[in-house]
Amino acid sequence: MTETTTTLKLTDNSKVKFKSGHYNTFGLLHGRPENGGTCPGSTSGAGGCLSLKRVGGVNATCYVDKLVKAYPNFGKVLQRNTELLRGKTQAEMEVVLTETVAAFVKHNKGNNLYFRLHTSGDFFSEDYARAWAATILKYPNVQFWTYTRSLWAIPLLMDCPNLSIYISSDPVNYAEAKAVYDICHLGHPNVGICYMGNIGTQPAGERWVVCPEVSGKLKNDSSQGACAKCRLCMTYNDKIRLRNIQFPVH
Ligand code: SF4
Repeated sequence: MTETTTTLKLTDNSKVKFKSGHYNTFGLLHGRPENGGTCPGSTSGAGGCLSLKRVGGVNATCYVDKLVKAYPNFGKVLQRNTELLRGKTQAEMEVVLTETVAAFVKHNKGNNLYFRLHTSGDFFSEDYARAWAATILKYPNVQFWTYTRSLWAIPLLMDCPNLSIYISSDPVNYAEAKAVYDICHLGHPNVGICYMGNIGTQPAGERWVVCPEVSGKLKNDSSQGACAKCRLCMTYNDKIRLRNIQFPVH
């Protein structure tokens, strides 16, 4: 899929695609803002999403680090997408996001309209989250889904009925994440909570469904990723709220 100078470069991710050549996601730079990333809610410490190891004099970050090292062009795409948004006004970002989703819809001829935000990176500012909320509401026929540790972004996005938004938790931020979830999911079946941590470490008192892709029960193949077959993270309606999902660390 070709991008223009005003659209994010979309990627064909093996897990989230619904068909070959779907191009239904994008990434931003990973890691803490002070290290150039877009993840202000990233967590460090035992079980957090950041490694405490220092690499090349810089605090290292999540699994995306490995991908960037293995595929330097992937890192360039994250950089380009981030530069297209960071430092821009809310209105300017809304133009970029709107044109990006329009290109996605056109590329797929109105079919398989499932769009995953942030296979790398996160909501880095309130203006950026608001720009996404405005964009998502313009495309009611597209089902968007995402996971975020930017807890302040949930109230800014939860009124988009076609956005499935997971509060991303782990042993470091669970108490804080759960407190936001307890308030925000009421009346919002599109707000869910997920937990990154191995079997046996998940918080008690909640029922968790283990992501079948991570557990190996569902495989990605060349025509479809596991998310297209599973769809748990985007299944909700007025009667059924999003299930709690557990992602064992792998
Ligand atoms: S639970 Fe299903 S939809 Fe959610 S990430 Fe895993 S495979 Fe994808």
